[in-house]
Amino acid sequence: MGQTHSTDLLIIGAGPAGYTAAIYAARASLSPVLLTGMQPGGQLTITTDVENYPGFAQAIQGPWLMEQMSAQAEHVGTKIIYDMVVSVDFTKGSPFHVTTDGGDTWIAKSVIIATGAQARWLGLPNEKRLQGAGVSACATCDGFFFRGKRVAVVGGGNTAVEEAIYLTHHADHVTLIHRRDSLKAEKILQERLFAHPKVSVIWNSAVEDIQSGGTPEAVTGLTLRDTVTGATSELAVDGVFIAIGHSPTTAMFGNQIELDAEGYIVTEPGTPRTSVPGIFAAGDVQDRTYRQAVTAAGTGCMAALDAERYIGGLIPNTKPEA
Ligand code: NDP
Repeated sequence: MGQTHSTDLLIIGAGPAGYTAAIYAARASLSPVLLTGMQPGGQLTITTDVENYPGFAQAIQGPWLMEQMSAQAEHVGTKIIYDMVVSVDFTKGSPFHVTTDGGDTWIAKSVIIATGAQARWLGLPNEKRLQGAGVSACATCDGFFFRGKRVAVVGGGNTAVEEAIYLTHHADHVTLIHRRDSLKAEKILQERLFAHPKVSVIWNSAVEDIQSGGTPEAVTGLTLRDTVTGATSELAVDGVFIAIGHSPTTAMFGNQIELDAEGYIVTEPGTPRTSVPGIFAAGDVQDRTYRQAVTAAGTGCMAALDAERYIGGLIPNTKPEA
């Protein structure tokens, strides 16, 4: 039988946004409770080198950075709970009710949503079935299994290029497959990719199917379709990494707060305030544009400052008239 707990501030999500919100809230004596969800540390736990988080002259590891943030949040007084939110009730206003997978109910005066975003998949029939058998969305998790093999990476953003470069540490050859004729990844990453002797790029191509065979069954190749001519071709690979962006983790908030057409939480411009007074959103769950660890941390700070003001009665408990 689950228990019911009360807190001033509940933070949902354990990425840079959630941990930063927790650090600020704990230092403001709000005794925050942070529910981690399924993947404590968020997306940075499935990246390798981080070179753009300020304060570190040398590249640091994503998982290490998240361990530090978690330890800092705990050190200043955050209660971290390894449980996942399954439903919320924001309809009656503050205090808000949040139910977890473990069966507990949390009643909170204010809630910060920092649930982040998740990898997108291509939606091919074999894609899900072959996960763990050559299909992956995380090079740092699975790259090791492709030592001496040939792999492909699908996508043209920073993630795809970083994953492709990372995979050269393990695989014999990496083919980046992109549906257009130019990448949107940062120029410095593109330069590193193009200069790498183990990498080739197939332009204007979409993956139409994933081939598999053997016992145990594993990926053997890809069917590609030229997006300009429509011609199909085969590419022999032992693994394929899908790196085509992310979707916000907002399924459980659907009828409770305003989301945009792609499911991102709508916030008042320049603030972390959602459509429900007392509920704040920070990080990738409300950011379709910047999506960086440092911007997530920044908005986590903003959310904690606003939650403190809300709990202290300095932010009204009603929405201004439209
Ligand atoms: P992006 O949204 O930036 O890029 C997604 C890529 O996948 C695009 O090239 C897109 O193609 C392609 N794509 C999307 N859907 C499909 C599909 N169905 N089939 C084939 N290709 C598809 O996502 P990322 O995950 O790369 O990056 C997200 C954010 O995180 C960005 O802001 C990025 O800068 C940031 N980031 C920063 C890092 C860093 O600074 N170290 C590391 C990783 C990410 P198209 O170009 O045609 O739209």
